[in-house]
Amino acid sequence: MNVAKVIVDVPASSINQTFDYSIPERFREMLKPGMRVIVPFGPRKIMGYVVDRVGESSFNNLKEINDILDITPVLTPELLDLGKWLAEDTLSLYITAFQAMLPQVLKANYKKELERLSNDSLSEELEAFFADRDHVAYDELENAMVSFSQVQKAIQNGDIAVRYLVKSRVTKKHVAFVKPAMEPHLLAEALEDMSGRARKQKEILDYFIDQNEEIELNKLLKKFETTRSTINALQAKGFLVLFKKEIYRNPYNDDAFEQTTALELTDEQREAIEPIKQHINDTEHDVFLLHGVTGSGKTEIYLQAIQDVIDKGEEAIVLVPEISLTPQMVRRFKGRFGSNVAVLHSALSYGEKYDEWRRIHRKEVQVVVGARSAVFAPFENIGIIIIDEEHENSYKQEDQPRYHARDAAIRRGENHQCPVILGSATPTLESYARAQKDVYKLAVLTKRTNEKAMPEVDIVDMREELHSGNRTMFSRRLKENIEQRIRRGEQAVLLLNRRGYSTFVMCRDCGHVKECPHCDIALTYHKRHNQLKCHYCSYEEPMPMYCPSCSSDLIRFFGTGTQRIEEALSQLIPEARVLRMDVDTTRRKGSHEKLLNQFANKEADILLGTQMIAKGLDFENVTLVGVLTADSMLHLPDFRSGEKTFQLLTQVSGRAGRHELPGEVIVQTYTPEHYSIELASRYEYLQFYKQEMQMRKKFQYPPFVFLALITVSHQNHVTAVQSTQEIVKRLWTLLQSESVILGPTPSPIARVKDRYRYQCMIKYKHEPELRTLINQVVRQFDDEVRKNDLQISVDMQPYQLM
Ligand code: ADP
Ligand code: ZN
Ligand code: ZN
Repeated sequence: MNVAKVIVDVPASSINQTFDYSIPERFREMLKPGMRVIVPFGPRKIMGYVVDRVGESSFNNLKEINDILDITPVLTPELLDLGKWLAEDTLSLYITAFQAMLPQVLKANYKKELERLSNDSLSEELEAFFADRDHVAYDELENAMVSFSQVQKAIQNGDIAVRYLVKSRVTKKHVAFVKPAMEPHLLAEALEDMSGRARKQKEILDYFIDQNEEIELNKLLKKFETTRSTINALQAKGFLVLFKKEIYRNPYNDDAFEQTTALELTDEQREAIEPIKQHINDTEHDVFLLHGVTGSGKTEIYLQAIQDVIDKGEEAIVLVPEISLTPQMVRRFKGRFGSNVAVLHSALSYGEKYDEWRRIHRKEVQVVVGARSAVFAPFENIGIIIIDEEHENSYKQEDQPRYHARDAAIRRGENHQCPVILGSATPTLESYARAQKDVYKLAVLTKRTNEKAMPEVDIVDMREELHSGNRTMFSRRLKENIEQRIRRGEQAVLLLNRRGYSTFVMCRDCGHVKECPHCDIALTYHKRHNQLKCHYCSYEEPMPMYCPSCSSDLIRFFGTGTQRIEEALSQLIPEARVLRMDVDTTRRKGSHEKLLNQFANKEADILLGTQMIAKGLDFENVTLVGVLTADSMLHLPDFRSGEKTFQLLTQVSGRAGRHELPGEVIVQTYTPEHYSIELASRYEYLQFYKQEMQMRKKFQYPPFVFLALITVSHQNHVTAVQSTQEIVKRLWTLLQSESVILGPTPSPIARVKDRYRYQCMIKYKHEPELRTLINQVVRQFDDEVRKNDLQISVDMQPYQLM
């Protein structure tokens, strides 16, 4: 078995296959599938994943593997198989799929260098360039006084060569430690011989006689208020040893979590958990949809099911949406399972993430709680996979590989024969429909555990406000209620949909809207720097004084960003202390947590924010939730906009009155009659499901059909249109007669970064060969892609239709 099949790190569809390499003698014993290796590829050396070992190859003269990067495989056999499936299911490259399953730091870094091979003198310019060095970074050529033809000539002569180096990133953290170099009784003897003046040294020796074990250098220095030179002196005398030790960066201090124990379950909870426990016990796979209102005790069910899995010696994966991975959420799991939990969160540094990943890889934990990509945790005995808030769009990855974590979870659930739990107060129509058909098992929690009713929801018609002369974005009702809460010392949460949504700049004279010159989308006004920014390409320009179209000075920003609301709020209710939480105020690491702590400590009366405040927060003192513009989502060009509105309103209502004090919700809208808003205000999920299903059926949208979206982009408008047309034409000849291909149409954002974007959408019910067919069609454009910078992307489960 001395041939390795390797997927190499070259993201090109022409190279999307395994390559055979021979395994040199010295690696034969240790090399296993799932390890990263360095292999020669053309003139370069690159990283690759070994996916298999075989006895022989159908090719002659195989090149040898140069090096192995791992001691144990980073991908288990199951993950190798999952990666293959993932690539094929999402029409991605194998290499992209494998990379997506591993932490960032395991991806290789490449460096291009010029190496001097001979000592013969080179041209004057090249001598100056190398300046007595053997290796010089290739980039330095750019600023050097060497012509490229000189370099080429020297390469041809064999005097110098281009080298590609694969670098594993620096990833492990080392910390200095000190330990005694001899037995305590020997140290004691040494102590007696020491001169009286070396007071600090004596104190430290005394410490080690007492505590005969290692200690972190910094801790020791601090403890004795001394400097490194004292320790160096003791080391020089042979009493102590300084050494480096690899430690894990633990972003969470496990001691800080108060331990909790299992609660006595309610009857509803017991009924819901029973079949799940049964499946864990029987090592049997099934998907459970746990539909329960917020506060109905879903998390407690997860915790108790996980306990069974741990007791069985198996492992648990819990996925939560990125923005709900709050300290409060982490505390619930660490509080129950302590240091047996690893947390994978995008706010962690690369190093911290890698350390958490390694704790999983080394089987030092049995539970992982994390965002989307935690579904690839390298466990080998999975006993349960839980997806909380299964309706969240963040479970779908929006770049390659465009996978949905739910699909990956179910696939792993089958591999490990374990239950998969999808939990939500507002399940997606897709999941609920599957539960109705008994594809998923439905478990329902109808009551809050504290028996408290869900808070009353009040809908305020903003058109009426306008008619009666209120031109602010706060209805009188909301204003009065906020003032009342402040008087009572209670707190309020105000939700605005999306950051800077509609904070565009418009001329009040001529209606001209400032757009990004590269993306066909309105620029967003940012007050802090008085700048206009594009959220798609990060183009920015100063806010103009005059309208570029009619020169009027009445050009203003328009709409309601969080900053704007914050200002208006402080004018309207000057005594209110407001905390603003949005992408801008939470960019820095730890700032999210800091804001939440401030609010929990009652340093503010109002927490104002975007979607991120709707999730998972739980504050005792919050008795009012205000939704400023319930309809800003309703009018997006997306067939799921009604569903998203319903989910968001339900979600945010769950933030109020979770404890002793009763809560109230005020929803401001210009379309109070819309069924999404109306049914959300009454918590009528089932009614909503029925009504929305009728719409989906009528217009033939999921779950009644499947969708696939193909997007084509090019700098040249005509090329983009024609290529899309060509794709559509070919697909029509290949697909079943009841499938429909919509388009070509311009993408809703028709230009991004100076590239024109066209798309076509396939609606189908049954196309077993669809992936192969699409691949076949797309591959015909390979030349255009390679030579002419055409881009084609395929999304087999599109969510972002905009
Ligand atoms: P969900 O995840 O559905 O929003 P949680 O699991 O967070 O609900 O439960 C809401 C609250 O009820 C939490 O404070 C939790 O500790 C408490 N709780 C859950 N189950 C029980 C129970 N069986 N008995 C008492 N309190 C419970
Ligand atoms: Zn104008
Ligand atoms: Zn732009």
